[in-house]
Amino acid sequence: MPRVSTRLDADVVIVGAGAAGLAAGIFARRAAPHLRVIVVDGAHKPGAKILVSGGSRCNVTNAVVTDRDYNGGRSTIVRRILRAFPVEATVAFFRDLGVTLHEEAHGKLFPDSHRARDVLDALLQGLASAGAELRPGHRVRTVTRRESGTGFDVVTARGPISCGRVVLATGGLSLPKTGSDGHGYALARAFGHTIVPTTPALVPLCLDQDASAAWRGNLSGVSHPVHLRVVSDAQRPTHVDGAMLWTHFGVSGPAVLDASRHWLRHQIEGRTASLRANLLSDTFETTEATWLSHALAHPRQQVGTTLAALVPAAVADAVLACVHVSRDRTLADLPREDRRLLLHTLTDWPLPITGSRGYSYAEVTAGGIDLREIDPATMASRLAGGLHFVGEILDVDGRLGGFNFQWAWSTAYVCGTSMAGE
Ligand SMILES: Cc1cc2nc3c(=O)[nH]c(=O)nc-3n(C[C@H](O)[C@H](O)[C@H](O)COP(=O)(O)OP(=O)(O)OC[C@H]3O[C@@H](n4cnc5c(N)ncnc54)[C@H](O)[C@@H]3O)c2cc1C
Repeated sequence: MPRVSTRLDADVVIVGAGAAGLAAGIFARRAAPHLRVIVVDGAHKPGAKILVSGGSRCNVTNAVVTDRDYNGGRSTIVRRILRAFPVEATVAFFRDLGVTLHEEAHGKLFPDSHRARDVLDALLQGLASAGAELRPGHRVRTVTRRESGTGFDVVTARGPISCGRVVLATGGLSLPKTGSDGHGYALARAFGHTIVPTTPALVPLCLDQDASAAWRGNLSGVSHPVHLRVVSDAQRPTHVDGAMLWTHFGVSGPAVLDASRHWLRHQIEGRTASLRANLLSDTFETTEATWLSHALAHPRQQVGTTLAALVPAAVADAVLACVHVSRDRTLADLPREDRRLLLHTLTDWPLPITGSRGYSYAEVTAGGIDLREIDPATMASRLAGGLHFVGEILDVDGRLGGFNFQWAWSTAYVCGTSMAGE
């Protein structure tokens, strides 16, 4: 395949050396070794997000990945991209790079070394071995079509680079201190692309401090299993099971992180939504039946004692404070109204959420480049020939568990290998 032009500085410039950009560089050079591929990044030490991922252990992917693990753009498009580079391919890709993976709880795959650093080093080494050039400290300001109409001028903080094709791998807005500050959206918008409005996702949520002041007390640091429902006035509820962690600002933990994007999407799309927590595994009806038979057998037991057998003591105190029931009340003395309010709160507690902790605490971005404007066979723009997109910049966000990295690897593969055929 001939080069796009011998007068250009590069055949392909990949903007962003995060997970998606580094992998796209490797796949592009492996598929088309004759192409000159340059990966530029504004950061002086790219890959910061990989280093902090998975508690510095990098949850590389998941044992089972399907389109149902993702939100955002059309699931048929997501499915097609995932199938082009499934989990088995990811495992083999990293094995070839010298990183073997093992499975942990919830199907999460981590490097055997437990070191995110090894994942980043392997990608950097893989990029160099594949023959692509990495240019850190090259923040891209603009990408424009060349006057000749062939190729692009990528203007970086250290001067322009002319090239035949551009891959935008600039991530979204999550953890902006790593360099992913959303500028990629502006670069895409300049070519007419639509940005589905963004919100943080996989992000802790804040509680109304005034509304929760009376009951938050000693909750901070307490974690327990919960069933969360995100309920809106317009759509079917979203259900999430997992651990919830109470914090000084509100709630976090896996269940809340997974629920967060749904609550935030309702807000941005103008729907009223609430986050409701079931602290028990049962419905109100079952819980009430169990409670009543327990009260018959133990009429003198105090409500606080009964509750403490069901949820952590601090949570029991919070629920009681919330419904204004004394923990010393005996089961026999608890009026029907109070009992029902207490059990409703235990099984369907509307948490007074005010918002999220924002992009600085988000693991990923919901929203981004509209998938309908991308060819899923190549990750190429349908609006601007020669422009491609990979990774988090796209309108796809995965749930917790390695799914966001899998999206980075799969999109990088589809994009990189397509370079051979164009
Ligand atoms: C704390 C944390 C933990 C996470 N843990 C996991 C996990 O364990 N498993 C998982 O699957 N996902 C995890 N994620 C999500 C995952 O890290 C991201 O989905 C993934 O890194 C996105 O990769 P990306 O390459 O698309 O974007 P990014 O990793 O954001 O990379 C984008 C790159 O582009 C560069 N860039 C941006 N704009 C420009 C510009 N104008 N010019 C030049 N360069 C630019 C940035 O400097 C950056 O290096 C975590 C995220 C966070 C924040």
